[in-house]
Amino acid sequence: MTTAPAKPVRTRFAPSPTGYLHLGGARTALYSWAYARHFGGTFVLRIEDTDLERSTPEAVQAIIEGMEWLGLSHDEGPFYQMQRMDRYREVVAQMLEAGTAYHCYSSPEEVEAMRERMREAGEKPRYDGTWRPEPGKTLPAIPEGRKPVVRFKNPLDGEVTWDDFVKGTITIGNKELDDLVIARPDGTPTYNFCVAVDDWDMQISHVLRGDDHVNNTPRQINILRAIGAPLPLYGHLPMILGADGQKMSKRKDAVNVMDYPAQGYLPEAILNYLARLGWSHGDDEVFSMEQVCSWFDGTHLSNSAAQFNIEKLNWLNNHYIKQADNERLAALAQPRMLAAGAVFDGAPALPAVLALMKERVNTVNELADAAMLFYRAPQPDAALMAQHLTDAVKPALAQFAERCATVEWTKEALAAMIKEVLAANGLKMPQMAMPLRLIVTGQLQTPAIDAVLQIFGREAIVARLAKFL
Ligand code: GLU
Repeated sequence: MTTAPAKPVRTRFAPSPTGYLHLGGARTALYSWAYARHFGGTFVLRIEDTDLERSTPEAVQAIIEGMEWLGLSHDEGPFYQMQRMDRYREVVAQMLEAGTAYHCYSSPEEVEAMRERMREAGEKPRYDGTWRPEPGKTLPAIPEGRKPVVRFKNPLDGEVTWDDFVKGTITIGNKELDDLVIARPDGTPTYNFCVAVDDWDMQISHVLRGDDHVNNTPRQINILRAIGAPLPLYGHLPMILGADGQKMSKRKDAVNVMDYPAQGYLPEAILNYLARLGWSHGDDEVFSMEQVCSWFDGTHLSNSAAQFNIEKLNWLNNHYIKQADNERLAALAQPRMLAAGAVFDGAPALPAVLALMKERVNTVNELADAAMLFYRAPQPDAALMAQHLTDAVKPALAQFAERCATVEWTKEALAAMIKEVLAANGLKMPQMAMPLRLIVTGQLQTPAIDAVLQIFGREAIVARLAKFL
């Protein structure tokens, strides 16, 4: 369905800071961000940190860093739920006052016992309404010294229906829903209640989130209705499966977004990949974030689980590496090369080397590793040298070395000069290129020899040849 909005678009990304930013979360953030950008709306970042046992400041930091790396900038926030406790208490009090919530003095044991009874009777276990006030109903005497929880007075009949803009119409009967605890005995509010109050206060118009939240949505809708809040539109995104079709796991998949820069992926490749993983624009596979923002209107979202495919991500990363500015690639590659012992002093300029080598690599790390051949002293294997630097080739290489002193130092002139030397000595290209590669780089696999020679520079080439001839 189209979702052309009648009101200002306000979306949010609302992660629980219990770990790193994972791929699924990043995709939710991307879609919420792109949707807001498409309609000139506002993208809110909200940190759902009320689970004190599992939330950590490090996780908050990791999420914010991940968002920054991807360039998914928020317009408002981050708002922290833990800083909004007074507001939640205020709404709980208002609901008690309005009769849309009530104190429940059933002990946890009693609640468990009633659930057990229902299970035995083959019913869905739920709170039996002992403390739910109804007209004409007399409530039990309040047990001495017991602190109550606050329960939401969920409608008993009817159903909750919403037009999910990913999954279509979803209907859940109120009989399926419990009278949810919205505040614990110590007054702290519970998860679904905080989300509803936040979405109301932050005037969220569109909620995009993972479909693990589908079961929460009717509860939140009922609470929003009870507090007189307008309902956002909901879209629940199917999850991302691992390459093996199973749920993604830390053990076998790189689920942490920040593992990707460490492995040499560019943010634009990850964004492009995630955009296409659950959404489509015709047959397009490559698109910029400007294009995604201009096309992402809530339609063409897929309702089936997407499967992670590293080959496709690699293909995109290769595409963006080829497009990337070489100075930027150099800044990314250099630390890894330094750690591997690269010596940059007196060596060719890194951007020029990367430009020569970036066509075929999947990652910046592969690129850095490939570029190392220009930044460490060549140590050709003696057996290989003996095999390739034969007596038949030596005179040709000596001529080549001599002409290196005066040849114009361009790729074209070097290529032409090599051809002349080959012709004069009755040799074929590999007969000279192989020993040259070994002498100059220490390895047999390199980019085109004329390009390699050109980049190294006259002085370095003459010096390296002199060692062997
Ligand atoms: N905090 C929830 C999560 O991290 C998201 C809640 C929401 O989007 O409504 O899964």
